[in-house]
Amino acid sequence: MPKIISNYIGGRFVDSNKRFRNVNPVDGGTVAEVCEASAADVDAAVQAARAAMAGPWGRMPVAERAQWLHRIADGIEARFENFVAAEVADTGRPVRQARTLDVPRGIANFRFFADLIKTAHTECFETATASGERAFNYTVRKPLGVIAAISPWNLPILLFSWKVAPALALGNAVVAKPSEETPSSAALLAEVAHEIGLPPGVFNVLHGFGSGSTGEFMTRHPGIDAVTFTGESRTGAAIMKTVADGVKDISFELGGKNAAIVFADADFDKAVDGVVRSSFTNSGQVCLCSERVLVHRSIFDRFVAAMKAKTEALQLGFPMDERTDIGPQISKEHQAKVAAYFQLAREEGATVVTGGEIPRFGDARDNGSWVRPTIWTGLPDSARCLREEVFGPVCHIAPFDTDEEAVARANDSDYGLATAIWTQDITRAHNIAQRMRSGLVWINTWYLRDLRTPFGGVRMSGIGREGGRHSLDFYSETTNICVKL
Ligand code: NAD
Repeated sequence: MPKIISNYIGGRFVDSNKRFRNVNPVDGGTVAEVCEASAADVDAAVQAARAAMAGPWGRMPVAERAQWLHRIADGIEARFENFVAAEVADTGRPVRQARTLDVPRGIANFRFFADLIKTAHTECFETATASGERAFNYTVRKPLGVIAAISPWNLPILLFSWKVAPALALGNAVVAKPSEETPSSAALLAEVAHEIGLPPGVFNVLHGFGSGSTGEFMTRHPGIDAVTFTGESRTGAAIMKTVADGVKDISFELGGKNAAIVFADADFDKAVDGVVRSSFTNSGQVCLCSERVLVHRSIFDRFVAAMKAKTEALQLGFPMDERTDIGPQISKEHQAKVAAYFQLAREEGATVVTGGEIPRFGDARDNGSWVRPTIWTGLPDSARCLREEVFGPVCHIAPFDTDEEAVARANDSDYGLATAIWTQDITRAHNIAQRMRSGLVWINTWYLRDLRTPFGGVRMSGIGREGGRHSLDFYSETTNICVKL
């Protein structure tokens, strides 16, 4: 009997007969049967959340709320290995990554916002009246109400908690939906909330799909006050249309087609290691991955050769094998999407430096959803493979001649999430960084995150910023109080 994953509504685990299969992408095995939340389940969750806001949670002092977040973090810590196992089972990622990145960040998100909320301040102004008296303006920060949080499959607990933690910290109630591909760690988080006795309705977890299913029911529901969404740009566009009638607040973290720029004066070995990492981490399934690599012509051939050697040394393996660098793609559908780009790249005239195929292992992995890490060269900037987000372990390396050219080509994208710059010339680094049309720029590093800093993209990569005080701004609203003295 496979495990059953239930919805968590108003402090109760609720089953349904409409279920879908949660698949292990390593070998196609079944992880669990998941209960799909119906429109009625969504309504029950929203009602429970509204009831929680009307109760003690809606008036709880900040310090007490912060304690609840620390208790959630403690609860994840106490079940650390369960969370690691859940992440590995759903995604096939190396266990090393789940232990060092995903689950620790889930814990850190709750601790960070618990601490931040205790020191968050608002504004205060003294105003002179026409008659020469004084008035005093001060602003109070209040919860938005009931937040719909919808997250993707690529970094399940990391991104789910990145929304749930600030929403709760600011005193909201949450109706949250993980991706249908990765329900397990969110289901565990519901268990943690239940075990620590978080008031019913404050945190609800629903499982299901997007369009015509749970996700759409959530965003359509009139009892939802705001939607925080991470996922594909076209899903963001669909959600925007859905929420338009209700004029709901949104925060969107969407796709990317990110550039890495390697200048001739870069520390060559560090740049190669950095670009291998930024192209293939999490099997290329990170919104921040570099799919467009621009390398100065003087080092281009050497760079491509070094990238090829390092990429071919990456181990595609079972998650529990400590030597594994690369896991599978999330699903057969996603494997097929990436494989379609392999085909398209050939049609568009690419030279396949390495990869470009589905590997054969001669073991259970042949039933999974694997693709080989892939490097292309020789495509024109107008190629679809260079304009559309593949979201797999692929990068294209192109030569450039001048700094101006590198800036123009890096910025020539409908997306604008992240850029990585590799150079030892600090003046060049800062000049180029400031000219990038992206929400994030890394210089001589990649993926290094300080939770206090703004995170988000421009153009098709998103709307708004989360992180640090930016999360405070999205997950709350202010009332200005003016008193004449
Ligand atoms: P997706 O858009 O297919 O799904 C994301 C979530 O939205 C899932 O929970 C899904 O069920 C739900 N959903 C889908 N359609 C919906 C609808 N019409 N209404 C409401 N909910 C709906 O994205 P994905 O394939 O899970 O994730 C990969 C994408 O996420 C990539 O484009 C990647 O770049 C992006 N991403 C962005 C960031 C960022 O911070 N900018 C981070 C991670 C991933």
